[in-house]
Amino acid sequence: MSEHAELVWHNGEILPYESIAIGLGNQSLNYGLCVIEGISVWPSPSRAYQIFRLREHLDRFAASCALVGVGLPWTTDRLMAACHEAVAANGLWRAYLRPLAVLGEGVLGLARAGSVADVAILLYDTSRFDQAVRGREVRLTTSSVIRSSPRAVPAKAKVSAGYLNSRLALMDAQDRGFDDAVLLDEDGYVAECSVQNLFAVRGRTVLVPESAAALDGITVACAAELAGHLGLTVSRRRLGLDELLGCDAVCVTSTAAGVRPVSGIDETAFDVGNEVIAALRDAYDRAERGLLPAFAHWNAEPGTTSTTASDVAPGSLPGPVPGRAPEVAPVSPP
Ligand code: PMP
Repeated sequence: MSEHAELVWHNGEILPYESIAIGLGNQSLNYGLCVIEGISVWPSPSRAYQIFRLREHLDRFAASCALVGVGLPWTTDRLMAACHEAVAANGLWRAYLRPLAVLGEGVLGLARAGSVADVAILLYDTSRFDQAVRGREVRLTTSSVIRSSPRAVPAKAKVSAGYLNSRLALMDAQDRGFDDAVLLDEDGYVAECSVQNLFAVRGRTVLVPESAAALDGITVACAAELAGHLGLTVSRRRLGLDELLGCDAVCVTSTAAGVRPVSGIDETAFDVGNEVIAALRDAYDRAERGLLPAFAHWNAEPGTTSTTASDVAPGSLPGPVPGRAPEVAPVSPP
């Protein structure tokens, strides 16, 4: 995903990428204090383009800044407009937006808590990434690297320092021929992968691992909400590795790569053709592209600033996943 677009939104202006420089003494660069987000832009069936779950991503951006003491000088509404300005300036309707909050030069040492950040919004052309990665099955391995303790590094903050942990796990997995790693938390429960969450399916139940050491992924939350509407049972709880390996199917989830089936974890193979994951992947792919009218509020079109949830009638998806009715009542609609 290396093809950044030419124009960047930077502290309220649209500027050429090359004109924005960061000094070597930059505090975010030196101390891992760069807060980031990753947001998908899709062509819209009606209005040029749409941005998926824009408000939710920018709320997480603000929350991440607050958690690590990075002062964010813009409101979420203004940053929503800024994302639209970055997309419109570049005229790229299928893209990945990367908001960044970067501290300045300051003096040597950690910046004061609350120091105000520069904010930039980059845009990446994802066409090559989409072709190579979207929809592809992944093979995972259990990592010997554990997810950092949330008592040491706040896992709910999407901040560059946290990616050292991801990087070490990913290097270990790739060195051993796998696509990604499953990281356990300090208590031995399933947390997430290096830059993706995961969920599992057993029968008609979707199991979403709950771990204080995992990022609160927006994709996995969407998949869980769609699962409820598809008449599936959603169970969010701590998940042991043995229980994960005993499931019928597993998916990894992220904004960049969507919902992808896992073919195996180490020696354990999973059913990549499982009908529950097929239905969930289909629903998510369509919601992301604005093709599920009942979930249109998940997409922000040009000129709109709201992606607040509205009531979605049960059954507004194409229909429940075929098969036996769930034994436990499905998650209620919002
Ligand atoms: N975990 C980590 C550590 C990540 O970096 C990401 C990507 N943002 C995810 C999970 C998936 O989050 P989302 O679905 O919000 O993209």
